[in-house]
Amino acid sequence: MNDTDSGLDIPTQEPCAFCDYLSGARPYTILCRSDLVAVLVTREQRGIGHLLVLPVRHYPTLLESESDERHAMIDTLAWAASAIDAAFERPGIAVWQNNGIAAHQAIPHLHFHVAGTLPGGGTNFDNVPELTVDQTDRIAAKIMATSPENDFCNPD
Ligand SMILES: [Zn+2]
Repeated sequence: MNDTDSGLDIPTQEPCAFCDYLSGARPYTILCRSDLVAVLVTREQRGIGHLLVLPVRHYPTLLESESDERHAMIDTLAWAASAIDAAFERPGIAVWQNNGIAAHQAIPHLHFHVAGTLPGGGTNFDNVPELTVDQTDRIAAKIMATSPENDFCNPD
């Protein structure tokens, strides 16, 4: 499942949490999705409005991504940043993505983080409380209430 030709040391997780969320095997807040890309509201909010942008197809890192997926992801990342801006009006929005255990990748399914900054700046990389799906559903509702038009990632 984590086959890669790269030198990266990939975390193992069976089954993949993100694949379980996308299939509905485990509940999670899916903000929107297309055939190529999905946006999740993470239960570990490390900023104000913290979303995950990921390919629907399972593979561990950016190195295995295909061109059409990369294009869909950057379009969706820009939309997610605009949606966070519209909903929360933070003075900063951070985007980050980790490849390999040494880069602090925990789930072996490529994902980008997008988060509005906290009061005082930055995002929280310490332990954060794990929200319930009801709580992340409410974050999704707030974001979708003001999100810009989007024809590539459709609400579930
Ligand atoms: Zn997966």
